[in-house]
Amino acid sequence: MTEAPAYDESNVFARILRGEIPCEKVLETEHALAFADVNPQAPVHVLVIPKGAYVDLTDFLARAPAAERIGLADAVAATVAKLGVAASGYRILANCGPDAQQEVPHLHWHILAGERLGPIRARG
Ligand code: AMP
Repeated sequence: MTEAPAYDESNVFARILRGEIPCEKVLETEHALAFADVNPQAPVHVLVIPKGAYVDLTDFLARAPAAERIGLADAVAATVAKLGVAASGYRILANCGPDAQQEVPHLHWHILAGERLGPIRARG
C-alpha cells in the first residue's frame, strides 16, 4: 500500500483554519468549515473542509474517527441546505492526488451550483 504524503501544516487551508488568512465563511461546525472558493468555477462555489489535518479523502477515510467523518458529511449537507441549491441541483467533488490535480493538500469538498454545470470532466 502506498503511504499518504505527510500533512503540510503550511497549506493555505490550514492557515485559514488557524485564522492566519481570511475566508468568506458560509458555515462552521465543531468538525468542519465551509467557505467561498476564491476563484469560483460556477455562480455558487463553496469548499467544505474538515478541521482535522487530512491530506485528501483517502487519508481522511483511513484515519478520521467516526465523529469527524459524520461531522464532515453533516457539514456538507448543512452547507447545501444553507446555500439553497438542493432543488435546482449541485455537484460535489473532491480532487485527490496528482491525476486529479489537487492543488491544496488539505481535504476539501467542492460544492458547485447555480447554473447548468456541463460535463463532469475535462482532460489535461
Ligand atoms: P483543488 O484543485 O481541488 O485542490 O482546489 C483548490 C481550490 O482552492 C481552488 O478551487 C482554489 O480556487 C481554492 N483556493 C485556493 N486558495 C484559496 C483561499 N485562500 N480561499 C478560498 N479558496 C481558495
